[in-house]
Amino acid sequence: MAKTLIIGAGGAGSVCIKKCASLPDVFGSIHVASRTLEKCRAIQADCVNPIGISQIDADDSDAVYALIQELDAKIVINLALPYQDLSIMDACIRARVPYLDTANYEPKDEAKFCYKWQWDYQERFKEAGILALLGSGFDPGVTNVFTAYAQKHYFDEIHTIDIVDCNDGDHGHPFATNFNPEINIREITQRGKYWEEGEWKEIDALSVSKNIDFPEVGERKGYLLYHEELESLVKNIPHLKRIRFWMTFSDSYITHLNVLQNVGMTRIDPVLFNGQEIVPLQFLKALLPEPSSLSDNYTGKTCIGCIFEGIKDGEKKKIMIYNVCHHQACHEEVGAQAVSYTTGVPAMIGAKMILENTWTGTGVFNIEEFDPDPFMSDLNEHGLAWKVLEL
Ligand code: NDP
Repeated sequence: MAKTLIIGAGGAGSVCIKKCASLPDVFGSIHVASRTLEKCRAIQADCVNPIGISQIDADDSDAVYALIQELDAKIVINLALPYQDLSIMDACIRARVPYLDTANYEPKDEAKFCYKWQWDYQERFKEAGILALLGSGFDPGVTNVFTAYAQKHYFDEIHTIDIVDCNDGDHGHPFATNFNPEINIREITQRGKYWEEGEWKEIDALSVSKNIDFPEVGERKGYLLYHEELESLVKNIPHLKRIRFWMTFSDSYITHLNVLQNVGMTRIDPVLFNGQEIVPLQFLKALLPEPSSLSDNYTGKTCIGCIFEGIKDGEKKKIMIYNVCHHQACHEEVGAQAVSYTTGVPAMIGAKMILENTWTGTGVFNIEEFDPDPFMSDLNEHGLAWKVLEL
């Protein structure tokens, strides 16, 4: 029987834990380890089946290794922060246990995420004879699987991809982020980037926007951002001429963000305050609502998908594959808002693909490298139904 170790008891972690706990035949006994034991305890009290918990600092690779050994875990699902990716990967290699995450590595002192650090683990995972599945959230994650599915069933050549992400919900707070505030704000305030005709093109942060028609939502303003799945899809999808990522933000959100930036609250370098060093963005995180606390009164829905253009049988073709997820429905099911839900469910499904030996291999993989069909089928079964629109 499998034993599953999940690290991170935040918004996405809590969803993944509850979803895994509801499938004991696949995930066996579940153990949750995170920085704050209280949060693990709260999830434990909320789970339908019993789970184990413990406190851990996942920056400490030895501690993660010791816990994997003690539990005899068969898989590690990393839903802590991107900073912990490498220490957890190191522990998995030592213990020869498969690894999965939803966000690529990012050093604490530089707002720069990229796959290079984790791709560099390729040989070590191969030598250990185990699999690492990178980016099994929604975006990255499901958007990559949508792309693999479009490539397999709808196109001979995909020429352009626009990944479009809309949260049309209302949590009732003047300003809050839907996933970890520190990671979210670092992502949004860095320079934008997209890929066209074989090269990366950079823009100032949030300087390019356009209205996008989101199915079941309507027209909303999307901003061009750099997002991690662009890096792997450029590598793994042949014939691609352009790929971009768009995310919607309300005018109020942008105004808050501008003010915070202008006064220095989004800085990630330490400043001296009352004789003590503090990082303004970390202090800001401490003031903002936890993503996992937003779901109570969250209304509205998310719509995330990919618009593909290309060629099939010599004819031009354009389709969109997307999911719509309702905040309230997620809250009723697992006590979470839709952004945590759309991350936690694909993490569970990715782990299920590995534990059931549906996806096999040794080395470090991005999710679009596997057969998308079983994952797509599980999305429908486990709460993230998708649709294909012929445009
Ligand atoms: P949260 O901040 O809600 O949760 C993060 C959890 O990790 C918290 O419980 C936190 O502990 C724990 N943690 C932080 N540092 C450590 C550490 N050193 N050791 C052990 N545990 C630690 O964030 P989210 O749940 O919103 O996001 C989780 C991950 O999912 C992030 O990597 C995020 O980037 C990713 N994500 C991916 C998405 C996708 O679609 N691919 C979308 C959204 C998020 P504490 O409670 O003490 O703070």
